[in-house]
Amino acid sequence: MSIAENLRRVKDEIAQACERAGRETASVELIAVSKTHGPQLLADAFRAGQRKFGESRVQEWEHKRAQLHSILGEDVGQIDAHLIGNLQSNKTSKAAWLFSAFDAVDSAKVAERLNAPCAQAGKVLPVLIEVKLSEEASKHGIDPHGVVGLVRRIEEMDGLQVNGLMMVPPYTDDAEGARPYFRQLRELRDEAQQATGIALPQLSMGMSHDFAVAIQEGSTSVRIGTAIFGTREYATTPQEEA
Ligand SMILES: *Cc1c(COP(=O)(O)O)cnc(C)c1O
Repeated sequence: MSIAENLRRVKDEIAQACERAGRETASVELIAVSKTHGPQLLADAFRAGQRKFGESRVQEWEHKRAQLHSILGEDVGQIDAHLIGNLQSNKTSKAAWLFSAFDAVDSAKVAERLNAPCAQAGKVLPVLIEVKLSEEASKHGIDPHGVVGLVRRIEEMDGLQVNGLMMVPPYTDDAEGARPYFRQLRELRDEAQQATGIALPQLSMGMSHDFAVAIQEGSTSVRIGTAIFGTREYATTPQEEA
């Protein structure tokens, strides 16, 4: 199957999940997770209309973006690249200009390091806070009890705009196994919004095998790799170090 066909199928499934949940299709954005895949596959997705991409490593995206520039020319500027993996503190300046959003802030320290170059450039980078809801879930993410404090901290930073929460549930073969985690993230978002008075409209949750369940539980952003680009050539756990 071609990338264009895979994209069409995934979008149809998103639309169906929205319909079943009584939600507008436009209320869920699709991030095509292209980590480990070569620039030709990204260019195919771009030509099929995809603009939002998710990458886990700063250097990988820097390299691929240059390759894409030679394939797509100036159109590469239309790509909306989200960093979805964790950020090492020595790569924050690079990340600030390479990405249009960072979806995995998990500490005040990383937020501060990223804020500095953004504020200096007069840029406001949209961010999500990654939450760790279980021991087996991802290696990364802030403890749920730390969310309110981190929302307040980021709100004070000129270079960052906090828009919501993100989470990777522990892997289960059955997508239903992820439902309690999706629900918990939504409730945590509601509580944080209430406690801070800061709008947190975004919930980034749902991957290739469980996005329909995530949409039922209120996801506004699904991060889909395998169902669009096929299996990754080398094994990566979600969220290797960026
Ligand atoms: C790799 C990755 C995805 C994509 O997972 P698939 O199962 O291939 O859809 C989504 N989110 C994060 C954070 C990832 O690292």
